[in-house]
Amino acid sequence: MDGMGRQYRIAEAEGVAPVTQKKTGTLLTHVSTAPHKYDGAVNTPVHRTSTIVFNTYEEFENSAKAPFNYGRHGTPTSVAFEQAIAALDGAAGSVSTGSGLSAITLALMAFAKSGDHVLMSDNVYSPSRRFCTEMLGKFGVEVEFYAPMIGAGIEKLFRKNTAVLFLEAPGSITFEVCDIGALVKSAKAKKTTTIMDNSWATPLLFKPLANGVDVSVMSATKYICGHSDVILGVASGTADSYPLLKKTALQLGLCAGSEELYLGLRGLRTLEVRLKEHQSRALEMAQWLEKQPAVSRVMHPALAACPGHDNWKKYFKGSSGTFGIVLKEGDKKKVARMLDGFKIFHMGASWGGYESLCFPQQPQSNRTAIPVTEPGFFLRLHIGFEDIDDLKTDLAEGFKRLAG
Ligand SMILES: *Cc1c(COP(=O)(O)O)cnc(C)c1O
Repeated sequence: MDGMGRQYRIAEAEGVAPVTQKKTGTLLTHVSTAPHKYDGAVNTPVHRTSTIVFNTYEEFENSAKAPFNYGRHGTPTSVAFEQAIAALDGAAGSVSTGSGLSAITLALMAFAKSGDHVLMSDNVYSPSRRFCTEMLGKFGVEVEFYAPMIGAGIEKLFRKNTAVLFLEAPGSITFEVCDIGALVKSAKAKKTTTIMDNSWATPLLFKPLANGVDVSVMSATKYICGHSDVILGVASGTADSYPLLKKTALQLGLCAGSEELYLGLRGLRTLEVRLKEHQSRALEMAQWLEKQPAVSRVMHPALAACPGHDNWKKYFKGSSGTFGIVLKEGDKKKVARMLDGFKIFHMGASWGGYESLCFPQQPQSNRTAIPVTEPGFFLRLHIGFEDIDDLKTDLAEGFKRLAG
């Protein structure tokens, strides 16, 4: 039909191939690809669209039920990414958002309302914490921070109005691994919604929903995208929790950019191989760091000395490339000498990319349930794909600058 013929195809919701493969490698490689739909192109294209046009008034009248009716509500690219994440998470559905933080705030806003009480792990990502104390506080939600290693003791903290229990494992900066099973069990007994930040593990190393969590949130910015060039978030829900997540995202006007969603899908293709490589390199580095005299403690969930190591063994299938250390030296000037002279490690926020990072964020101002009194200096490391001996040399020379 020519331009005036108005035979626009309203794409089918199942515009992406149904997932029939269950094993991770095959799933990651083929989920949400549909070459038969896109003239043989392997990758699902970037759909840049705001407007979706209708052929008839009848179609317009029924547009709310159509798979696509407006760019913000979803496009074949967003559906492809969301279906891929839902398949990995074992979710009824996933909602993509413009950032990991907005996936977290979406989940909290969906399940907490004015007058409610929210239990938040003391070691959450600090912007999640700030959202709770400032924004949720402003809307009349009371937030209480709990000690991450509280385990079954959480039971005593539930109130009649506790609407949400929020978990993050391992915790940001301090890397404790909570007893996910015990926390979830208590929440279920109190009919409280559980939300978990699973950015560190991704569904490849831990599946929150299969462990009874109601909503899994991730910063796809990190390992999913994997190249330090995208900001993207996603929240996955069960048959019970997904509808409210989706509805809330629509009401808040949250959506992710098509280019970012495309890069999220592209990142998924190599997620398993990248994570395996991050795991072995980070573990080798963590074990090497345990032997360095300048280091007082290594916070890596796969090492016996990490708080919650037994929980990690119980719940996780592996570890990723992000962990922390505490330096014995607490003098900022000396630490700065070490950090400023690194040749390979960049100092920067985020992690999950191909490059190694060293991030000097201190946890003290972001803890209230368990104040941090440990002397020394906290560093978060992300181990990328540089030569491991080059990385060790970079750190060893840094320790010399620290001492000298
Ligand atoms: C980075 C991070 C986030 C936020 O992700 P953005 O995509 O940067 O918004 C949330 N949770 C954790 C644990 C993170 O490390």
